[in-house]
Amino acid sequence: MKNYDYIILGAGAAGLMMAYRMANDAFFDNKSILILDKERKTQNDRTWCYWENGVGEWDTILHTLWKEIIFESELYSTKENLKPYQYKMIRSSSFYDKIWNFIAAKKNFHFTPVTVKSIEQKEDFANIVTNKENFQTKYLLNSIVFEKSYLKQTKYPVLNQHFVGWFIEVEEAIFDDSVATFMDFKIPQKGNTRFMYILPISKKVALFEYTLFSEELLAYETYEKAIQNYLKEKGITKYKIIEKEDGIIPMTSFKFWKSNSKNIIHIGTAGGWSKASTGFTFKNTTKNTQKLVAFLKTEKPLSKFHKKNKFWFYDLLFLDVLANENHLGANLFARLFQKNKTQQILKFLDNETTFLEDLKIMATMPSFKFMKVLFKRVF
Ligand SMILES: Cc1cc2nc3c(=O)[nH]c(=O)nc-3n(C[C@H](O)[C@H](O)[C@H](O)COP(=O)(O)OP(=O)(O)OC[C@H]3O[C@@H](n4cnc5c(N)ncnc54)[C@H](O)[C@@H]3O)c2cc1C
Repeated sequence: MKNYDYIILGAGAAGLMMAYRMANDAFFDNKSILILDKERKTQNDRTWCYWENGVGEWDTILHTLWKEIIFESELYSTKENLKPYQYKMIRSSSFYDKIWNFIAAKKNFHFTPVTVKSIEQKEDFANIVTNKENFQTKYLLNSIVFEKSYLKQTKYPVLNQHFVGWFIEVEEAIFDDSVATFMDFKIPQKGNTRFMYILPISKKVALFEYTLFSEELLAYETYEKAIQNYLKEKGITKYKIIEKEDGIIPMTSFKFWKSNSKNIIHIGTAGGWSKASTGFTFKNTTKNTQKLVAFLKTEKPLSKFHKKNKFWFYDLLFLDVLANENHLGANLFARLFQKNKTQQILKFLDNETTFLEDLKIMATMPSFKFMKVLFKRVF
C-alpha cells in the first residue's frame, strides 16, 4: 500500500488544474503528490469556452477569442459587443500539454496510469482501490464520477446539457470569425430547450454544436441529422467534417458536496462544479481550484471546504422551471437577453452580481412561473 500526502484522481480539467496550482505553490514543494488516471491525455478531446473580463490566466494557450456574440430566437435576436468581456476558447490538448510540461519539472509529483475502482473514507485517511495496486492519502482530491448519485434522488431535478459538435471546413471564406453564436434557438424545439452553438475559428472552419438542456438523451444520429439540416438551411452544402466532439454535462442543484468527508473532496463535475443552470464548468474550476489550494494549506477537514451561496438557490429555481416545462428555455433566454445588458447576464452567470443586480435580472423572468416553484421550495 503506497502512501502520498495528496492524491489527485483524474487528470482532466479539474485534476490537472489542481496539480498546476499546487506545483506553483512552494507550500507543496516538500509534499508527495500522486496523480492517477487511466491515461495521460494529450489529445483534443474537448473544446473549453468561457467568458472573461480582460486578460486571463490561460491566455497563453487560447485557441481563439471573440469580442462579439449573437443570440437568436423567434422572440428576440441580437448581436452584442461583450466589452469588457471576451469569449475565449481553449482546445484541451494545449491545456494538457501546458500542465504536464510544468509538472514534469517537479520531483515531488508522480503519475501512475491505473483504472480507479473505488475510494473509501477510513478513520483518518482515504483509501483508493485500483486495477493494479492500492493507495492511501490524507488528502484525496477526486474528479472521477464513480456513481451518479444525483440520479438516485428526486429532490433536485437533473437535466443534462448534451450535445454533438462538428468542426467543418468549407472551401470559400464564408464564416464571420469575429462573432460567436452563443445560442441560436431558431431550430425546432420539439418540446425541449434546443439550440445551435456556433464557433467560427477562421473564415473557413467552424464548430457547429447541436445542444439541448433536457433530461433525456437522443440517439447519436439525431444530433448529427440536426446539424446536417441546419447547415443545409444556411446554404452550407459543401463541407468536410474535420473533427467531432460530444458531451453530457449534468445540470442539477444536487448537493454534491454532501459526500465530501474529512479526507476526501470531490472536484470538477464530480464535485458539482458545473454551473447547474448552464453546464459551464471551466471558469468555476479556475475559481474553485484557487480557493481549494488556499484551503488545503489550512489543513482543515475537506468536508469544511464547501460554502453554499445564493446562486445555488437561483439555479435550483431555474432548473425547477425548466424541468417542469422544458420547452420554455428559448423564451426564458430570449427574455434574459432582451431585457438585460449582456454583460450583466455574464456577471450573473459568473455568480458575481450583487443582490440588487440579482433582483433586476429576476424581475425580467416570468414571475408567476418562478413564484410557483419558489413557493414549492420554501413550503
Ligand atoms: C466535449 C466537451 C466540451 C465541453 N465544453 C465546455 C465549455 O466550452 N465550457 C465549459 O465551461 N465546460 C465545458 N465542458 C464541461 C467541463 O468543462 C468538462 O467536462 C471538463 O473536462 C470537466 O472537468 P473534470 O476534471 O471534472 O472532468 P474530466 O476533464 O472529464 O476529467 C476526469 C478524468 O478522470 C479520468 N477517469 C475517469 N474515470 C476513471 C477511472 N475509473 N480511473 C482512472 N481515471 C478515470 C478521465 O480519464 C479524465 O481524465 C465540456 C465537456 C465536454 C465533454
